Amino acid sequence: MSEFVLPAPPTPSLAVAGESARFAIRRVFCVGRNYSEHAREMGHDPDREPPFFFSKPADAVVAAQGTIAYPPLTEDLHHEVELVVAIGKDGVDISPETALEHVWGYGLGIDLTRRDIQAQAKKLGRPWDWAKGFDESAPTTPLRRVSDTGHPASAAIWLKVNGDTRQQGDLADQIWSVADVISYASQSVALKAGDLIFTGTPAGVGALQPGDVVTAGIDGVGELSFTLGQR
Ligand code: MN
Repeated sequence: MSEFVLPAPPTPSLAVAGESARFAIRRVFCVGRNYSEHAREMGHDPDREPPFFFSKPADAVVAAQGTIAYPPLTEDLHHEVELVVAIGKDGVDISPETALEHVWGYGLGIDLTRRDIQAQAKKLGRPWDWAKGFDESAPTTPLRRVSDTGHPASAAIWLKVNGDTRQQGDLADQIWSVADVISYASQSVALKAGDLIFTGTPAGVGALQPGDVVTAGIDGVGELSFTLGQR
């Protein structure tokens, strides 16, 4: 046992549906522009880009329930509903054919984004971290095992704000499948058990206001609901 000069911080984790044990989180990887219509709404041609990734801190993942903090430094906080893949088996240079063997389970989460800070970062050639990796920026459902969900390849994915539909898509519209995403990511970094991958969002991203009620779901995977806090 190592000793630490300060108490070790708590291990970030998510609940597992129907079980008392939790899923310990190692790293959080996110895919950008993985649905054609969303890529277009952000001003890009989806047919000419390989997948690219950014990260969030593991402790940005919180349970998608109750009140989620409205973050500082933004006037344009956006919602992005996404299928979340939980990795259960280590691997590097994983082939698309074997990639799904590395999946432990699935959930859904919101990639909260300070869009104004992201736009400034893009303009100035700065990193996206401050736009994407703030506290409570990844509210996520309890995870479910593959034995429970299978590998959802075609399923409705949606998000509502105060009951009004904002995002409505289908997992089948992903440019890069879960298997492709795992394969690509594992060419850049070693994937390990405990990693989460946010797999991108369909079209319809938009701004949230303090006090908004966000509900979202993926058929066969789960649903979430939370209220955004006050500034
Ligand atoms: Mn996203």
